[in-house]
Amino acid sequence: RSNAQHFEFQAEVSRLMDIIIHSLYSNKDIFLRELISNASDALDKIRFLALTDKDVLGEGDDTNLEIQIKLDKEKRIISIRDRGIGMTKEDLIKNLGTIAKSGTSAFVEKMQTSGDLNLIGQFGVGFYSVYLVADNVEVISKHNDDKQHIWESKADGSFVVAEDTENEPLGRGTEIRLHLREEAGEYLEESKLKELVKKYSEFINFPIRLWASKEVDVEVPADEDESNDEEESSETEKSEEETEKGEDEDEDAEKKPKTKTKKETTYEWELLNDVKAIWLRSPKEVTDEEYTKFYHSLAKDFGDEKPLSWSHFTAEGDVEFKAVLFVPPKAPHDLYESYYNANKSNLKLYVRRVFISDEFDELLPKYLNFLLGLVDSDTLPLNVSREMLQQHSSLKTIKKKLIRKALDMIRKLAEEDPDESSDKDNKEVEKSEDDEKRGQYTRFWNEFGKSIKLGIIEDAANRNRLAKLLRFESTKSDGKLTSLDQYISRMKSGQKDIFYITGASKEQLEKSPFLERLKKKNFEVIFFTDPVDEYLMQYLMDYEDKKFQNVSKEGLKLGKDSKDKELKESYKELTKWWKSALASDNVDDVKLSNRLADTPCVVVTSKYGWSANMERIMQSQTL
Ligand code: ADP
Ligand code: MG
Repeated sequence: RSNAQHFEFQAEVSRLMDIIIHSLYSNKDIFLRELISNASDALDKIRFLALTDKDVLGEGDDTNLEIQIKLDKEKRIISIRDRGIGMTKEDLIKNLGTIAKSGTSAFVEKMQTSGDLNLIGQFGVGFYSVYLVADNVEVISKHNDDKQHIWESKADGSFVVAEDTENEPLGRGTEIRLHLREEAGEYLEESKLKELVKKYSEFINFPIRLWASKEVDVEVPADEDESNDEEESSETEKSEEETEKGEDEDEDAEKKPKTKTKKETTYEWELLNDVKAIWLRSPKEVTDEEYTKFYHSLAKDFGDEKPLSWSHFTAEGDVEFKAVLFVPPKAPHDLYESYYNANKSNLKLYVRRVFISDEFDELLPKYLNFLLGLVDSDTLPLNVSREMLQQHSSLKTIKKKLIRKALDMIRKLAEEDPDESSDKDNKEVEKSEDDEKRGQYTRFWNEFGKSIKLGIIEDAANRNRLAKLLRFESTKSDGKLTSLDQYISRMKSGQKDIFYITGASKEQLEKSPFLERLKKKNFEVIFFTDPVDEYLMQYLMDYEDKKFQNVSKEGLKLGKDSKDKELKESYKELTKWWKSALASDNVDDVKLSNRLADTPCVVVTSKYGWSANMERIMQSQTL
């Protein structure tokens, strides 16, 4: 092309494409769902813009918001066409030549070792999966703000972009043409494409159509050139029928030329998906399998893992909305990376079926960012800007209800897990149905426990609900996880406080002199070994009217001992002398201890001071 400009791919992209091209990954099917997902995103964008400016849609065919797939068997081309927002020349260069999002190199590393491309869509590089099946790709695109351009690359480290004067004008939108590789011939079969759309693109909210062939009977004059007929036998049969009919019914029949039917192939836009949104259906009518598939499409992860749990509900009252929330089976690789400045909500917001945004911070607090799902509101206004929506008063109510429902869902996950019940002797009697739920809460805790802790720190209004979800090991939990409720049920009579200790590991804590006396007296002590626990315990002061007591800090009361007073008196001189001998900024007081059994003395932290563990954490952070 004369006006073509050449570009080198960003090194990261080149590397990714190299891996994709040489990949032995067997599931090459994924390219289609990635292209359909991009087309759907582009359609969402133009539909959103059209809410406040109808003119952007144009007229005629351009208003037809659907996804069209066409095959050209001879030229071995699949093309996917949308009338979405399109791309300007600049967009083409930027979007299909560089990778903006973080975590891509992590993905590249992972792919090199595992070879599993399934998660490519999660990393914002799904487009490049086209090179699993194509050796040459053309992207023709027309954006309202620019002329039509064509992008092309043979995956040789470079691409070209040119103003497109050779193809038919698109009006608006994008057409992607894949020139299939030798070994990718199966994708030229209509049946294969239909199967893929069913499997992977079931929940796309725009019609997906295939330019599909159809055998039809057409009537042709009987005396037409016979030599052209290929299926002679069936045709003779048919034409006999016709003749009979004609004789019976119409006296004019004889005057008409005799006709016969012939099989002919015609083409039409066959609809491949059912666009009824799953969240509008009644939860009773949606099967577990459908929820699982819906989860896979939201997560852009079509592996075979089921979500740990889901909640599908309708909120009524002042603010009406429908929502579906999922707890994924695994935490994404970057869940806690730059937790405080990244916008990583995974909730899609719809207003009356129209997709608005998946970057709406205001729907869920940060600590619940691990949830996936969507909200469709009937109360929010449609014809306002995103900024105005973001400030709409209904959002607060929606958020409140979503948090409540999310925490309910997680609590239920625990309640339904037979491993969670304190009544462990009952195990034998449980039905096999429960086995699916067995161990699910432990799985949840291992993946997302930190989120619950962050919630306790950040969300004062739900602190108690979140504390109920907390799990930990203790001196009595026997290597398993236990809860505060279970701890309380085991408390000794007369025990007022919940005892805990913080440190780097359970093994280290088990040897701690702070536990000597407590163990002897059969008190249970919680082990907190995650760095975040120190912060957690600054916010979690009490639970069910019980105070938390760090056993390495001042204030530990293990019940009165009759000899306490007497002992204190007899050691008075010694402690006094000792205090003056150590008098410094580091030692506040020297006291007779009731927490030790064998160790002669121990350094205790004052009530509001940093525990030794906190000192350790702070040190490692400043290093
Ligand atoms: P992601 O979809 O996660 O952003 P992709 O690699 O699939 O990542 O696509 C990269 C970008 O290319 C998209 O973000 C979008 O800006 C652009 N793009 C791809 N396909 C289309 C399309 N059909 N219409 C408009 N833009 C597209
Ligand atoms: Mg994509």
